[in-house]
Amino acid sequence: MVVSADAGSRGGKAVPYKALLDEAIAQSTHKPESVLLVDRGLAPLPLVEGRDRLWAPLREQHLHAQVPCVWVDATHPSYTLYTSGTTGKPKGVQRDTGGYAVALAASMEYIYCGKPGETYFSTSDIGWVVGHSYIIYGPLIAGMATIMYEGLPIRPDGGIWWSLVEKYKVTVMFSAPTAIRVLKKQDPALLKKYDLSSLRALFLAGEPLDEPTAQWISEGLGKPIIDNYWQTETGWPILAICKGVDDAPPKFGSPGKPVYGYNVKLLDDQTGAELTGANQKGVVAIEGPLPPGCMQTVWRDDARFVNTYWKSVPGRMVYSTFDWGIRDEDGYYFILGRTDDVINVAGHRLGTREIEESIAGHPNVAEVAVVGVADALKGQVAMAFAVLKDASCLGDTQAELRLEGEIMKLVDRDLGAVARPARVRFVTVLPKTRSGKVLRRAIQAVCESRDTGDLTTMDDPAALQQIRDLVQTKNS
Ligand code: ATP
Ligand code: MG
Repeated sequence: MVVSADAGSRGGKAVPYKALLDEAIAQSTHKPESVLLVDRGLAPLPLVEGRDRLWAPLREQHLHAQVPCVWVDATHPSYTLYTSGTTGKPKGVQRDTGGYAVALAASMEYIYCGKPGETYFSTSDIGWVVGHSYIIYGPLIAGMATIMYEGLPIRPDGGIWWSLVEKYKVTVMFSAPTAIRVLKKQDPALLKKYDLSSLRALFLAGEPLDEPTAQWISEGLGKPIIDNYWQTETGWPILAICKGVDDAPPKFGSPGKPVYGYNVKLLDDQTGAELTGANQKGVVAIEGPLPPGCMQTVWRDDARFVNTYWKSVPGRMVYSTFDWGIRDEDGYYFILGRTDDVINVAGHRLGTREIEESIAGHPNVAEVAVVGVADALKGQVAMAFAVLKDASCLGDTQAELRLEGEIMKLVDRDLGAVARPARVRFVTVLPKTRSGKVLRRAIQAVCESRDTGDLTTMDDPAALQQIRDLVQTKNS
């Protein structure tokens, strides 16, 4: 059975689903017997005889039906969910039932600190892992109310989320750095307009949380901002600040320490050797077995599961996260970006995330993506694409060049001239996946005039076009 609706709503516009759904069913080899449709009155909803049924009359009819529980094994699959597709073809993560429920229940207590009777607000979409784990299952297992919000964080204005916190007395909130960067372009007074006294903390995950963004939102709200690091594959945090387990205070720029159940290691990507010293860069890996809640396999592809995740580090059978990290002398981890995002400039290995972090420190930069682009002389050079808070200088070549110079100076100061981007270009929006992650591989492909590969997970094609236009004018 497929459950769907006539349309979704985004930025005040209806996004009709039915025609897309009919087309998908037409293309599929295993067709659903029935389709249950919620009519939200947003778009036409033509029904297919014998297959499609409307939810409202059925609900009326079965309102008092008693449905017994169906008992399943703890290892019975609960769902398959695809990764965001930031680095390539999304992987279908298969999850169990019992271990997942246990992991979520414990995480609500020790990581998010939500209590029964309180209200949890995750701003994710239920189609993503944060939505599954922390809009639906986690809060409900913990006996909390949960808020499902459909729409943008800036409509009707940039205060909408905070008005919901006030209205529903939200105690725990979960969002993503990408959403906070969107808010940075809005009036900061909106952060102070509502009564946020119920709110204990704002958790952020999904992408590296740069320090300027964390500082900005922390000061704006006057609340603790808590980073946590995980993947669709794990279903719940790998690195976090755990209450009552290890009462370490959060550190800006770090998602914390390994969560109970995860045997996290930093490994040398070339030799597989474990890096035990402080501040050594390595691949973040997890020694098996993975804790409860983590993926069982790749849906219908055990070979891909083993080969992709467990065989990438030479000489060892460990789970690779495909992220770079370091651990400081106090045991805090810092994620430096994905293993694909390391560039080699004249023999120096640089993480694009470090360059992004430096550029984000410029007062007029809201958001930035850095990629490595092939260069005949240096092997690779860094190219930066930035979104400005105040974009009034866009189109004024002199002003743009001045800003570019300021940003380059900043990188020189923070990381040295070798990390200085060859160019800093300005755009109004960055190409992202639908879950809000910057599609660096697509930007890189455009800069190198290569085929961009699979773009089905991209949100807004116009964003990539802006970069294509900039790159082409430069070349001509
Ligand atoms: P795909 O695996 O299909 O390329 P994806 O990795 O973006 O897509 P997700 O599972 O949604 O899919 O994202 C997990 C990744 O997001 C992590 O591996 C890491 O790169 C990044 N990430 C998540 N949380 C954090 C965080 N707190 N700090 C830094 N990076 C993070
Ligand atoms: Mg991934």
